[in-house]
Amino acid sequence: MLYQSTRTEGKQFRFDEVVLKGLASDGGLYLPTEFPKITEGEFESWRSLDYADLAFEVMRKFIGDSIPEDDFKGIVDRAYAQFRHPAVAPLVQLDSNLWVLELFQGPTLAFKDFALQFLGQLLNYLLEREGQRAVIMGATSGDTGSAAIEGCRHCDALDIFILHPHNRVSEVQRKQMTSVLSDNVFNIALEGNFDDCQQTVKESFADTSFLPEGRSLVAVNSINWARIMAQVVYYVYAALRLGGPQQAISFSVPTGNFGDIFAGYVAKQMGLSIDRLIVATNSNDILARCIETGSLKKQPLQHSMSPSMDIVVSSNFERLIYLLAGRDGDRVADIQAQFNGGDVALGDDIHQALKGEFDARALNDEQTVDVIKRWYAQSGYVLDPHTAIGVDAAEQVAPSSPVVCLSTAHPAKFSDAIVAAGAPHPTLPVHLNDLLEREERYTVLDNNGDTVRNFVAENARK
Ligand SMILES: *Cc1c(COP(=O)(O)O)cnc(C)c1O
Repeated sequence: MLYQSTRTEGKQFRFDEVVLKGLASDGGLYLPTEFPKITEGEFESWRSLDYADLAFEVMRKFIGDSIPEDDFKGIVDRAYAQFRHPAVAPLVQLDSNLWVLELFQGPTLAFKDFALQFLGQLLNYLLEREGQRAVIMGATSGDTGSAAIEGCRHCDALDIFILHPHNRVSEVQRKQMTSVLSDNVFNIALEGNFDDCQQTVKESFADTSFLPEGRSLVAVNSINWARIMAQVVYYVYAALRLGGPQQAISFSVPTGNFGDIFAGYVAKQMGLSIDRLIVATNSNDILARCIETGSLKKQPLQHSMSPSMDIVVSSNFERLIYLLAGRDGDRVADIQAQFNGGDVALGDDIHQALKGEFDARALNDEQTVDVIKRWYAQSGYVLDPHTAIGVDAAEQVAPSSPVVCLSTAHPAKFSDAIVAAGAPHPTLPVHLNDLLEREERYTVLDNNGDTVRNFVAENARK
């Protein structure tokens, strides 16, 4: 099993290299040179497996001989031991043909725990094996930061620095990050906005000479292949429970960076019978417009009630373009160069292929609140605003196959939208019910790259 970049670089890499590197040096993203297949016999024998055992079976197909099987089993088991529900990803039926897959049963109440609990264990294993330690730097507008911190807090080979915009994340989101007092966890509240945080992190990756000697810098944002790979598992898990792969299943996915739904596309390439993949977005609807018109056109960012999907450029979309363009890296590099100017037509072949696989719907805030209100009134089930968009998109597209909407967050994480919909204020799960009283630790820093890098250099454990 080897990997290559979505751009021009011809070189091939092993799984462990791809995980530690994150982004390819030509600016592209890594993908397997071909997708491993799941046989009918495998699907049948996997039907009764619990989540962690299934995750081991699906993901081992991607790791080649990078990690011995027993070690990999340990990594996977540890990653999914922290979920509150024994099913890890329970399916809840909402309507005769509609289910939600609750992906918010992990420690930080959003689906990002599925990938980041695993990635923390994986990185720690790979680094300890080489006798190395690494620094993680990441920017967050909310969910990624807390999931990454939870995933790394017990990892001795990692020091993690997460930048969030000072006073611009919700109290629950901030406390989830800043109340983790482990001595390898550093929260930086930057006097700037989310883009400033991201810019500082990007610059730091471009020149890592500020790091203490012998340290490398590792990225945990959603372009890391290991995150996509971990998300493939729950598509298989849900489909097996609803009669797949004999029965084709459709999935509706609240989408921002296109990582989660791309994992569904990968599951399909592996042989899972998936009917429609539905891209559900808020008013930041660049992907919905692209599927309609065949052109990617940037528009200014709009702040919404589903903030984890407030994104102008969906970085993982490049992976899909590459595959739909017949793995033509030069063409992808051209498309990306044009898109940097704000606007690019993908070409008729890519547009047709895109429409053949995906549907899309976009909802604004008002519609989102209405959906939460309607589902609460008719069933008592409280949808978080991201999931509400996915559920409504599923109903609008209405495929004939059973539809699973990925429920990406617990409603208590986004209680403003729930309260606006007239549903009762959602309570945090027991393990977090004292969250707002917990002691916090974070450092406020000026919006200056060198200040941040000096802080990292001084505080990374010696
Ligand atoms: C990150 C996130 C999304 C978007 O997922 P992508 O993989 O970026 O498309 C949707 N909902 C919630 C709650 C999230 O945290």
